[in-house]
Amino acid sequence: MEEQQLQSLTEEISETFFGLPFLHHISFNARLRTTGGRYLLRTHNIEINPHHYRKHGLESMIGTIKHELCHYHLHLQKRGYRHQDRDFQELLARVGGSRYCPDTGLRREVKTRYEYVCTACGQEYQRKRKIDLDRFGCGRCRGKIKLLRTFLQQDRN
Ligand SMILES: [Zn+2]
Ligand SMILES: [Zn+2]
Repeated sequence: MEEQQLQSLTEEISETFFGLPFLHHISFNARLRTTGGRYLLRTHNIEINPHHYRKHGLESMIGTIKHELCHYHLHLQKRGYRHQDRDFQELLARVGGSRYCPDTGLRREVKTRYEYVCTACGQEYQRKRKIDLDRFGCGRCRGKIKLLRTFLQQDRN
């Protein structure tokens, strides 16, 4: 979907469901990861997560646009625009917006990492895989290495 189409779709949803015009800008932001969209209090613009749209389809995106428009209109009217506000919850239910901005599935994968230390020189190593301690020694001094700890790390994708 082109951004121009996204803009007209949002203007249409705003008129139809809220009876009010959407006078700001909506765009795709590929850097959004954990939400389907967001409303920016400072600029009154809305951003939509394109990964979310690709994964969950148009219906879900319309739900997200309605959700963001609830923040938008209530904020401009100086009413309760936050999730916990009664105004927000009532308006959201009335227009049939998404209850929350669902996870996009792009959360980074968490993997186990291994940290080793050389018993001779104290050099530390971080590895993605377990090292066969019988076969490999310290890269610096050939000393014996031992497992110091395991920890979790988020994978970059
Ligand atoms: Zn929200
Ligand atoms: Zn060493």
